[in-house]
Parts: sequence; structure tokens; C-alpha cells
Amino acid sequence: MDSDDGAASGAMAGTGTDTSAENVGTVLGRVVTLPGEGTSEMSTREYGPPGPGEVRIAVACTALCGSDKRLWHAGSSVVSGHEIAGVIDATGPGVPVNRRGERVIIYIPEFCGHCAACARNLTQRCENAGKLIGWQRDGGFQEYLTVPAANAVSVPDGIALDDAVLALDTLGTTAHGLRMLSRISDTAARERLLVVGCGPLGLGAVIAAPAFGYHDVAAVDPDPVRLAEARRRGATTLSDVAVNSSAAVIEASGTNDGRDLARRAVAPGGSVLLLGEGSADWVVPAVPEFRRKDAFYVRSFYFPLAEMEDTWTLMRERGAALRGLLDHRWPLEGVGQAFEAFCAGTAIKPLIVVRPDLLGEDAS
Ligand SMILES: [Zn+2]
Ligand SMILES: [Zn+2]
Repeated sequence: MDSDDGAASGAMAGTGTDTSAENVGTVLGRVVTLPGEGTSEMSTREYGPPGPGEVRIAVACTALCGSDKRLWHAGSSVVSGHEIAGVIDATGPGVPVNRRGERVIIYIPEFCGHCAACARNLTQRCENAGKLIGWQRDGGFQEYLTVPAANAVSVPDGIALDDAVLALDTLGTTAHGLRMLSRISDTAARERLLVVGCGPLGLGAVIAAPAFGYHDVAAVDPDPVRLAEARRRGATTLSDVAVNSSAAVIEASGTNDGRDLARRAVAPGGSVLLLGEGSADWVVPAVPEFRRKDAFYVRSFYFPLAEMEDTWTLMRERGAALRGLLDHRWPLEGVGQAFEAFCAGTAIKPLIVVRPDLLGEDAS
């Protein structure tokens, strides 16, 4: 059976009334892995039925994230891709069978659901924190994916799956960070928000900031194309940043240059949100400029599931600003080209369209 047959065998009725035999069949699908050193490999894999408490997803699309660039260069032992949207294709024992056909996005941290953090709905802080989907267990650069049912988050009617992927890292993570940041800023301290780094995360911050009371948003990035994207979305763009000039700073580049800039730019009494991901150590020099500045530093990670409803609301309000962020699309076999364009800076945020028919359903 070739891969097209595999895709066809996974087509779903979406009624949730299928017999269990049809529900849990094995399907074939294509998968792209990242062996490292900027290479990708495609193969075909057999996807068995989901286990207890799990669902199998027919992946519609997976967006690339800046953090994935590390995996493109270093390689990954699991299937990468962690900004995933799709349709539930099969349900495991204990999962309501009528979830089959549900349009979902994938929340990436495994969580236990019963620890003190989960009891407070702070799923991203789960004390029994498990694997991250797309990092330590298989992610979205493939046609099918099995995840815990609790990690498959229903997408509201009226939101297309290829917009819904932006509710994860781009809006969900930035909104959670902004929520933490706004908690430690008084009204006066919300005068100027500086966003350092205008990749997808930084642009997400520019888009979400007004909803958290930040109406004077400035942005800085060495790439003029990215800076123009921030300007188009309402930010004042800066070519250089004065010391102590910003009441709040969001570091969204994940680079040490960006972190150093944020540290210098924050005004006394202000706050810095360290949002960008990077694998290099960051050493803070013990200079008076740092030691004698009275300021807050916040690090946030992902977002709690409980904030999803607010993120959907934000997405409806700021939909126009989000448009165009996923500026280039590739099919599954184009994962390598997508990474090359992403690393070269010619694509803001690539989208891998795994199953165009599943996106087409939104338009019908
Ligand atoms: Zn990400
Ligand atoms: Zn937990």
C-alpha cells in the first residue's frame, strides 16, 4: 500500500457513530524525521489503534517554531513538530467515541491531571511533568499521531485549523507570559512595552499586548523584513534602544544578545519577560547597571490549558493581525525546504500542510 492509500484509509465520516472495528483500525501514513545536520527523511509507518485514554489524530497541518531550528541542526530521535492541528481519527478505550471527527489542536506537555498544580488547572506546571509532544515523544511531521485525549483541545466552530495552530505558541504562550508580566506592572509601568525579536513569538506578543493593557508597543529586530511585519501590526519600530527606556520588555529572540538588550532597556521598577527559547547558557555580568537596577525578571513556560478559552477570544479579536503570519506553506515532503527557508529568514513562519483535504473542510 502506498502512502496515498494510507491517507485514504484514514478518511473519516466525522459522525462519531462508527463501529469500534472501523474506529480503531490500523492505518499507513507518511512520516518525516530529522536525522540532524539540516537533513530530513521521509518514510511510511503503520499507525495502530490508540491505547486507553488516547486518541489518534489525522494531522491536518503543523507549523514550524523557532525552537525547531535546533532540532533541524542537531536531529531528533522522535518525530518533531509541536504546533499541530488535525482531526480525531480514532478513540482509545475510555474516550467517548463521539470525539471522533472532532477538530483539535495539540497541547504539548503531558500532564497527570491529579497533582497539586493540575488541581489548580496549572497543567504546564504539572509536578509529574511528562514528555513534550514533538520533543520527547512523536509530534506532527507525519500523517497520524497518537496523544492523550486530554491533550487534544477542541477548536471552536468558526476558527479554521490553519488559524487554530497559532493559538498554541504564537498566542497561547505569549498571552500567558503577558498575563504574568501585567501582574507585576502597575498602571504607570505599562507606558512602554518593548518587544525584542520579531519572529513568530515576538509578533505574537505585538499582536496580543493591547489586550493586556499595553498600548504603546515598540519592537526591535536586526532583520528589516521582520521589523516591517511588527510595524504592520501596530508596533513602533526602533533601530536602536536607549538604556532604561522601557517599562516592560518581552525578550522573544531566545538569543543572549536579545537578553542583554532587554536587561539594558528595562527601566528601573520595570519588568522583563524572558519568553524566547535558547539552548546556550546566559551569563549575566555583575555590573552596577544590572545589580543596581530595581527591576523584575519573569520566566514563563507555555500556558495552562485553562487559559485556552481566553486565547480563542483573543484570536477572534485579533484575527486580522494574525493573518499572513503563516506566510509560506509546504506539503509534508517539503519539511526540509521549509526549514531551509525558515533558517534563511525568507519565511516568517512556515506551515506544513499534511492533509489539505482536512483544511478544505473548514471552507465548506
Ligand atoms: Zn514552539
Ligand atoms: Zn499534574
